[in-house]
Amino acid sequence: MDRKVIIAGNWKMNKNACEGVALVEDLKKIFADCSCSCEADVVVCPPFTTIGAVVEAAKNSNIKVGAQNIHWADNGAFTGEISGDMLKTAGVEYVIIGHSERRQYFGETDATVNARLKAALKYDLIPIVCVGELLDERESGKTEAVLSTQIRGGFDGISGAEMEKIVVAYEPVWAIGTGKTATPEIAEAAHAHIRKELAAMFGTEVAEKVRIQYGGSMKAANARELVAQKDIDGGLIGGAALKADEFAKLICEALGK
Ligand code: PEP
Repeated sequence: MDRKVIIAGNWKMNKNACEGVALVEDLKKIFADCSCSCEADVVVCPPFTTIGAVVEAAKNSNIKVGAQNIHWADNGAFTGEISGDMLKTAGVEYVIIGHSERRQYFGETDATVNARLKAALKYDLIPIVCVGELLDERESGKTEAVLSTQIRGGFDGISGAEMEKIVVAYEPVWAIGTGKTATPEIAEAAHAHIRKELAAMFGTEVAEKVRIQYGGSMKAANARELVAQKDIDGGLIGGAALKADEFAKLICEALGK
């Protein structure tokens, strides 16, 4: 099964509009001399206030823009939140849902992930749904059970046709921003489990089409061997997405170039 590699940069709460545009301009310069960015789906996910400027800067390039969150309501009294309509109108094409930092610091649950996912699909945004276990869950042998619960809850009520469009990001929480990357074997085992769970819910044909990214201290130096694994279809990148040369190099490495 040929699944197109997808590399997405999660800028988190970094880069104001000027800095975000500068990063995209630097990426465009690098991509002009390198075809790797055409062979993968390349996405950058800036903070909300940086999105407009980055959408403008990314026009006529291979760089797609994503958001880091979406609310489930169309509009209303939800101070600090953002709707699918607002994101779509701003030129956003992807949205990260259920990142572990949202789960850890902002009370995100599988039920809210599911509600946000349905809103993203309603507005024709491509969701990147994050799942992953905590260190103590891994150490107590609960990784597969945790992933299964997150998948069953997060994708409840989703059709097979919808699931095919969704990107899943496996992000072991102990590897995010810590410099501790999962070994390719550990990551592949988790990805294979996720795909098995998706096959049980949606059938093998659908599960084989779903792209599953790895996230957690991925960088140019380890992207190649991670994405070479059978069930790893790209990366969700934090720190290494904040520097144009590192991010661009990571994309080429992920493609095995
Ligand atoms: C992330 O925030 O999704 C992430 C994977 O961060 P980092 O690459 O910095 O570990």
